[in-house]
Amino acid sequence: MANAHGLHARPATQLVNLTKKFQGEIHVQVDDGAFVSAKSLTKLLSLGCQRGQHLTFIAEPDSDAVEGLSQIIAAVQQGLGEEIQPIDTQQNTANTQPEILTFESNTDTDAKTQGIAASTGLAYGPAYVIKPRQYDYPRLASNIKDESLKLDIALHTVKNNIYQLIAKTDVDDIKQIFTAHLEMLDDPELIHNVQKGLKQGLSAAAAWHDYIESAAQAQEALQDRLLAERAADLRDIGERILAHLCGVEEQIAPDSPYILIMQDVGPSDVARLNKERVAGILTAVGGASAHSAIVARALGIPAIVGAGQHVLDIQNNETVLINGDSGEFIIQPDATLIEQAIHERERQHTLRLEAEKHCMAPAITLDHHQIEIAANIGNIHATEQAVNDGAEAIGLLRTELVFMAHQNAPSEEIQQADYRTVLDTLAGRPLVVRTLDVGGDKPLPYLPLPSEENPFLGLRGIRLTLRKPELLQQQLIALLKAADDRPLRIMFPMIGRVEEWRAAKAILDEVRQQYPCKNLQVGIMIEVPSAALLAPILAQEVDFFSIGTNDLTQYTLAIDRGHPLLSAEADGLHPSILLLIDQTVRAAHQYGKWVGICGELAADPKAVPILMGLGVDELSMSSTSIPLVKAQIRQLNFTDCQTLAHQALQCDSATSVRALGA
Ligand code: PEP
Ligand code: MG
Repeated sequence: MANAHGLHARPATQLVNLTKKFQGEIHVQVDDGAFVSAKSLTKLLSLGCQRGQHLTFIAEPDSDAVEGLSQIIAAVQQGLGEEIQPIDTQQNTANTQPEILTFESNTDTDAKTQGIAASTGLAYGPAYVIKPRQYDYPRLASNIKDESLKLDIALHTVKNNIYQLIAKTDVDDIKQIFTAHLEMLDDPELIHNVQKGLKQGLSAAAAWHDYIESAAQAQEALQDRLLAERAADLRDIGERILAHLCGVEEQIAPDSPYILIMQDVGPSDVARLNKERVAGILTAVGGASAHSAIVARALGIPAIVGAGQHVLDIQNNETVLINGDSGEFIIQPDATLIEQAIHERERQHTLRLEAEKHCMAPAITLDHHQIEIAANIGNIHATEQAVNDGAEAIGLLRTELVFMAHQNAPSEEIQQADYRTVLDTLAGRPLVVRTLDVGGDKPLPYLPLPSEENPFLGLRGIRLTLRKPELLQQQLIALLKAADDRPLRIMFPMIGRVEEWRAAKAILDEVRQQYPCKNLQVGIMIEVPSAALLAPILAQEVDFFSIGTNDLTQYTLAIDRGHPLLSAEADGLHPSILLLIDQTVRAAHQYGKWVGICGELAADPKAVPILMGLGVDELSMSSTSIPLVKAQIRQLNFTDCQTLAHQALQCDSATSVRALGA
């Protein structure tokens, strides 16, 4: 896509008008993202396609849409009604080394500040700060009539605002959401229950909040995922009324692209963002391997997390420049810095396009050391894009995410069909599948788990599936049936004890007798330190290890990967984690087994040479990172990587590891 601002509302509307001319379904995808209907404006906008990204269209077979594809592609190439600057792919190939830009502050006013780089890219714009809101209200009130009137006024005002929002938007999906909110506000059950609270002597705010919160909690507990998600809508309207009752002004997001500044952004917040308006994200808390950061990366929104509470003091509309590669941000930057950033953004686009041209070639260092580059996916339809991005294998299929795509627990047949889709698309390339890793911060709506004090230290991954062996058996049968002797690698998550591995392997061996599979390897994820420490024993029994550095980091440093304050300190390049990786690789190689890395560290430009130097055999990452990582590796010398890795193992902190070779 060559439009300067990507697929924003105007070109997207043109695209919808064009695709709607055809009866057959037309779907579109950005890079390795999910396919969405090209006839839905909201879906198109939610793609957040930026200049330089690839759009892939597919049409319903045997329909008029197939004929229409060439017309659609031509319209996109011509800019969908906008003037476009073609993307220059004829670049000098001498400098393809991905670089992390650091801002050069050239005036005293450009105060550089640092957070954690969470999602690549440069972005700037006016700040839009959402502070956690405080609502002060008395719990009790003496006059029911007054409270009832206050509530009526609040309901009336908020409903009016919603009507205005509906009138203003052209987007059907947004209209539908707000229409549903209106219906909720008119719900007689809700009004009746809040009135009951008032009769018990509560203030309007207290009666309202108590009822909304209990209704939201009841909604959340529902088995049906879609219904459970309506709890967020209830809280949404709940907060709007409460804000009105407490005299707290509603915040209205700016119309032009802004830098969203928040305390923290949950994965679902990121997924709901209006990508056309959110140029970048800056949060006070959070770490690079929290699932919210992973989602920001998948959406391609530049993000810095864990930058400290002071970011909430930034004034609305102050210009903020963020660098999602270095973690630096500048408040009120000098105009020349913005120019520099624009220039740099173009340069990065060019580097990316150059790297993409060679993405199908292997990753071989200057001194001829090759490493396998694979993709992490959680959506079966992402396989094709992964292959097109240069993935030589799928190094991690997060099957819990595949499960989440179904509203009810998928049967063995449905699972088999899902796995078959991935294997078919891989056309002979290996598939590393992780068995269900539910629990921790990944609940499965139709597999309700008792709430735990410490879910990350509780029933998650293999600990859960070993207690529900029929679930594991069913998944293994579906996998073996789908394999048809193609290269299938199955690994178990969260193995911490040798007994767990043996118990899981025994279940697989039993299933395998009934469903033989010729090209199968069985391994484990190394993400609990005890497994890394026992690697010399485990290596004798497994076929491979895949190191999950996200969890290995959280468990080694004892920092919850989503902890609002501490996760910023959970850096996978901490020498303690490198020592565990080193020990794992040595043990595996001693017994002729291979080792991959499938945590976020695998695509970190600072980590790539160190992990290579430690001798890992495969790096598996989000497929959008593959072209650049391959380009980086082609400029490395393996012997230098070994020296670097050796130095890293001697360091005393992640900061000193990151400073090596700087
Ligand atoms: C990991 O822990 O590094 C990993 C790849 O698994 P997940 O991020 O899905 O927990
Ligand atoms: Mg993990």
